[in-house]
Amino acid sequence: MVKRVSHLLGSILVSGLAVVFLAGCVGARPGLSPVVVKRVQMHMGTLVSITAVAPDKEMGHKAIQAGFDEIKRLERMLSTWVVSSELSQVNAEAGRHPVRVSPETFEVVAKSLEIARLTDGGFNIALGPAVEAWSVTERQDIPTDGELHSLKDLVDWTTIELNHDENTIFLPRRGMRIDVGGIGKGYAADRAVMEMKQVGVVGGVVALSGDIKAFGLAPPGGGFPVGIKHPRREGDVIAVIDLRDEAISTAGDYERFFERDGIRYHHILDPKTLQPARTCQSVTVIGKDGTVVDGLDTGIFVLGPERGMALVEQLPDIEAVIVDAQGRMEVSSGLRARLRKPQ
Ligand code: ADP
Ligand code: MG
Repeated sequence: MVKRVSHLLGSILVSGLAVVFLAGCVGARPGLSPVVVKRVQMHMGTLVSITAVAPDKEMGHKAIQAGFDEIKRLERMLSTWVVSSELSQVNAEAGRHPVRVSPETFEVVAKSLEIARLTDGGFNIALGPAVEAWSVTERQDIPTDGELHSLKDLVDWTTIELNHDENTIFLPRRGMRIDVGGIGKGYAADRAVMEMKQVGVVGGVVALSGDIKAFGLAPPGGGFPVGIKHPRREGDVIAVIDLRDEAISTAGDYERFFERDGIRYHHILDPKTLQPARTCQSVTVIGKDGTVVDGLDTGIFVLGPERGMALVEQLPDIEAVIVDAQGRMEVSSGLRARLRKPQ
């Protein structure tokens, strides 16, 4: 199922650009009116939709293919579901040896640790063992305090060793593992956009579920409209924003969860308690870098509305919409004038 912002992007983009798309197809002067081409495939365990704005259909399809190819390549490199991936090798050697990785894998892990520092450990790529203990979408068990406590040492991201000269990653304890599931889709969006630009298209959108990156302009010249989902009313949108050469990512407690005795247990864990983080319903982050916004949304979700918004106001070129546990929406200062009410 497509979730979060992507849902809306799908519908808004399709309805918003359908006219332009048609005009492009039937236009008598294809050189003057750009066409909009869109395709959807499954990658990284989610629906990926790529839209290209191009002088002609052929170039549009070529750019879209380049985007999908890049995402497939990164998935083979970064996914911990793929046994041969670089990160799987890093995990297999935990407690034994450092593993040399490609510059890209190194970059994603280095950025992940930067975001961990920025969010006081709210974003944590070493959380895998705790995520598995909860397995929110499968067993739906509530792990005991003892079980969670025994995992504390394994999820300590501060022990991860990066060697910038050798390009190696080392997990010092057996049973540790890293997983870039909370940031890899943003990275893939960044890289796919780079590949699309190489082909020469003038604009486009890469959306991996709710991790979306846009570049250039949507015909007839504005940004690409994206809706932010209401965290409690399925199908409703709380605000719309036009993306211009920027990325957006949402973390929400409504994405994957189960309920037991009236309590919602969801997939974003607070690394300090190893329990689902409780102070937000959703956090949407907007910025230039898809990797950064993908990591920050989860990290800020854990930090909570006050500390999270304080961090956003401190960071240059980062904006956010935070819906707190009571459903109140707070918008960062640089974004207020840009948000539109949904029609
Ligand atoms: P998705 O697009 O899959 O929902 P997110 O970017 O929202 O991904 O990241 C959530 C995923 O990251 C969870 O499914 C879980 O595997 C993992 N995760 C949970 N809590 C944290 C955390 N505090 N820091 C980093 N990753 C986390
Ligand atoms: Mg994220």
